[in-house]
Amino acid sequence: MKVEVLGNAQDGGVPHLGCECEMCEEAREKPEKAKKIASLLLEEGDSENSNAQYLIDATPDIRYQTTGKYIDGVFLSHEGLGHMTGLLFLGKESHNYEGIPVYTSEKANEFLQKNDPYRLLKDRGNIDVYEIEDGDKQNLMNGCVEVIETEHPRVETNNFCFMIHGEEKKLFYVSDIHEWSHEIKQKVKEADIAIPDIAIIDGTFWSADEIERYSEVSHPTIITTMAEMEDVDTEIYFTHLNHTNPAYREDSEERGELEEREFEIAEQGMEFEI
Ligand SMILES: [Zn+2]
Ligand SMILES: [Zn+2]
Repeated sequence: MKVEVLGNAQDGGVPHLGCECEMCEEAREKPEKAKKIASLLLEEGDSENSNAQYLIDATPDIRYQTTGKYIDGVFLSHEGLGHMTGLLFLGKESHNYEGIPVYTSEKANEFLQKNDPYRLLKDRGNIDVYEIEDGDKQNLMNGCVEVIETEHPRVETNNFCFMIHGEEKKLFYVSDIHEWSHEIKQKVKEADIAIPDIAIIDGTFWSADEIERYSEVSHPTIITTMAEMEDVDTEIYFTHLNHTNPAYREDSEERGELEEREFEIAEQGMEFEI
């Protein structure tokens, strides 16, 4: 199985609405500098013959993140601007897909059923929703996607992260969490059976003083995560970066420090054979 990084920005993306910082202004002037919102594509390993592709999260950038090919399924981590709203592009106004499997929680399914325009996707048969819960394993492409529940206090649906089991390696994906719980740290560090080889994890902020309203939108900072994960064998990549995160810039001191400590940024287009 091949895992591709389709984007690494926090839900608000880069450029960020209402922001005139250097990074956002540059992204407006040069679209190639824009950062797409965090999500993953899971594909058959041999891309020449690839005929299956699954998304982890449906971002508002979905139009630029998928090829013209059919989508075989979408796993949603939770209900949120950057994680779910891309579903709307599966409907009649767009390609009018038929029966795309969407794997999500019971609560999110209820939300989809009750609220337009999501309800229309279900009523018109654009999507078929399959409810998932902690511990479920969905088999696909000689591997499976294991569902792990975590907390996200600002959303009312369940919040999932995913252990993606390939034929040879495991890749752990947690793009958006509030704080590190012991259980989720263990998933990065040692998992139940073996160490996951690769972990792509929440790197929204570099430090807590990066934005004024950090306490309202808190995430584990890269600084604290690096300190906690320093002695881990897993290859760790950060994703879901806010536009204010100095590590976004390749020439920043912070990026230099991150790489010196053997962490990386999950860049759009990166591929992992698992
Ligand atoms: Zn998010
Ligand atoms: Zn900005």
